[in-house]
Amino acid sequence: MFKSTKKQISIFIGILSLGIFAGFLFIAISTQLQVKNLVTKSIENKAEVLEKTIELHSKTLTTFCFDYTYWDEMSKFVDKPDSNWAKVNIESAMLTFETDYAWVYTPTMDLVYSYSSKSEEQLNGLPFDRETLIKITSDKFSSFFINSGSYVIEIHGSPIQPSDDLKRETEALGYFFIGRKWDRNYIEQLEDFTNSQITLDIYLNSAIKAKSDKNKDLTSIKILRGWDNVPVAHLITTFGLDTYSSIKKQNAPIYFLGIIFFALFTIAFVILIILWVNKPINLIFDALKNKDERKLNQLSERKDDFGSLASLVHNSFEQQKKLTQEITDRQQAESQLRMLSKAIDQSPDSIIITNTKGEIEFCNTAVMKISGFEREEIIGSTPKIFSSGRKTREEYQELWHTITSGKIWEGEFLNKKKNGDLYWESTTISPVTNSQGKITHYLAIRKDITEQKMMTRELIKAKERAEESDRLKSAFLANMSHEIRTPMNSIMGFASLLPDEDSKDIMAQYATIIYKNSEQLVNIIDGIVLYSKLQTHQLSFNPTTFEVQRLLNELRNMFKTSDNYSSITLFFDTPTETHDAITTDYEKLKQILYNIISNAFKYTHEGEIHVGYSYKENSTCEFYVSDTGIGIPKSDITRIFERFYRGSNVNESTVRGTGIGLSIVKELVELMGGTIWAESHTEDFGHIRGSKFSFKIPV
Ligand code: ADP
Repeated sequence: MFKSTKKQISIFIGILSLGIFAGFLFIAISTQLQVKNLVTKSIENKAEVLEKTIELHSKTLTTFCFDYTYWDEMSKFVDKPDSNWAKVNIESAMLTFETDYAWVYTPTMDLVYSYSSKSEEQLNGLPFDRETLIKITSDKFSSFFINSGSYVIEIHGSPIQPSDDLKRETEALGYFFIGRKWDRNYIEQLEDFTNSQITLDIYLNSAIKAKSDKNKDLTSIKILRGWDNVPVAHLITTFGLDTYSSIKKQNAPIYFLGIIFFALFTIAFVILIILWVNKPINLIFDALKNKDERKLNQLSERKDDFGSLASLVHNSFEQQKKLTQEITDRQQAESQLRMLSKAIDQSPDSIIITNTKGEIEFCNTAVMKISGFEREEIIGSTPKIFSSGRKTREEYQELWHTITSGKIWEGEFLNKKKNGDLYWESTTISPVTNSQGKITHYLAIRKDITEQKMMTRELIKAKERAEESDRLKSAFLANMSHEIRTPMNSIMGFASLLPDEDSKDIMAQYATIIYKNSEQLVNIIDGIVLYSKLQTHQLSFNPTTFEVQRLLNELRNMFKTSDNYSSITLFFDTPTETHDAITTDYEKLKQILYNIISNAFKYTHEGEIHVGYSYKENSTCEFYVSDTGIGIPKSDITRIFERFYRGSNVNESTVRGTGIGLSIVKELVELMGGTIWAESHTEDFGHIRGSKFSFKIPV
């Protein structure tokens, strides 16, 4: 820190001394400028004096010219030039007016008199032709310069007019010109008056040189013009050159010193800027560009503005880092929140959030999908909107008691959809608490368990059916043994009587009984075999084409021998329209009809049995067997086709049976691609008592 203070002090002293020198230099330069101003002003004055002197000289010539041309003797002189008169009057006056030349012309511009005080330079008239002279004299008083080649002459001329013509309006009687030679003597005179150096440039090139001269500020140029205004010479005047040069000489070392100090000051300033300003700025810029605040560690220790700036940038980096971290955290939280909200919304389970008053504040899509209500209808209302009214007040009280005491409630609701349909939901309601543990909301997650419930119900039914089937099977087995045992007992009993019997008639009777019972036994065994074949899918559908009438005739013959049923008449109804043949499985169709007709005989005490068929649309044929028997109770009509089922209308001990006849029939009909149904009336109120079995098969 001490080191840096010392450095700062030395830099400060350096700059201060440079500043003092710069101040000194400034004073010196401004003094010189003041001197220069004074010189310039004095030069301007001198130039004015020179101008006035030349003008004054010129005016004397004009006066001379004016006086002599307004003189009657002069006009006479034009007509009769008299050299004596000229000597006395013109040449002597020329001395007074310091004039070197005089010329007199006639009105037609013929020279009548010419004189030069400088005997060596006689000018025989003006160096112009007649036309030019006429042009020159068109002005009453003309004044101009002529360049003779080696010197310049100032010319003044005027027309000669009578003295009584005060306004000089009459025609010229002649012309009078005078000239003053601007020789070295004359120029020296001017130099004396104005304390200057005068050069007459008759070649018109020194002016250019003078302009490019170093001391052009001290030089004045006067243009001397001819009669036609064209420059004929330049009068170049240089004033006070010596004074100015000496001042300049005196100031030269000051200038030199000034330049050196200025250069030193500039270099020092630049170095200072680089050290104090540029370097730290570059450091800060670099740190900002590369986002690397480590570069600022050293700079931020400085106790000046740049140190503070570096600290600020350093801090801003830190804040930026924190901010970036915060933004990342927030983005992560937001994406997690989005994911959660999506998951909740896409959940197949209904999710409902209510406030503590039970008003719904949120519900996911599943709620609307399951219940059929719109979101607008649900939000703001209470879960009562879904109520079917099946839950008791006590159950609701228990629910509220559980959740308000901060516990989770689990249970099932039978709810009602918007369209009135009922559905089951298993529901879990849990309280949502804030950071102080106070309940702010309730979250209900509800699962549609309608199908599950139905399945359970089906399962219970199936279980009951299985139990029933088991019971039926036991009954079947008991029946079977009874069914088999009864004919077997008769067969064995009568067979044991046969050896001791002598009467042929009785023997024949016994033999018939044995045969019938055997036949019955075979029938029972056939039924069981057929049933088991059907169960194990060993039977196949073998279609053939045959006439229905042939089948009916065969059945008629089969039941002809049933002497036991003398009080029952079997009819075969023939359809009105006759068809040649049908195509289906002959044996199976015979088996079906045989079983149904057998049942009709079994469960009919008296009356008629009708067997018939008719053709239906789509190449189907409907067969029926109707009887006037005991009929089937309504509760049994759907169950009689179940295996082992025996109707409640039959007395199992008196009417023989196994309960598999109709189930065989049903299986065979379905194997042939048809359907079977039964209609029946047990009482004969308005109806004929009895049953009608119908089935339809494709033919
Ligand atoms: P089974 O005749 O050996 O008892 P089935 O399977 O043939 O067994 O018949 C089942 C039940 O259907 C019978 O026990 C009976 O209750 C009833 N049933 C069948 N046919 C008739 C019918 N024609 N009239 C009245 N009841 C019948």
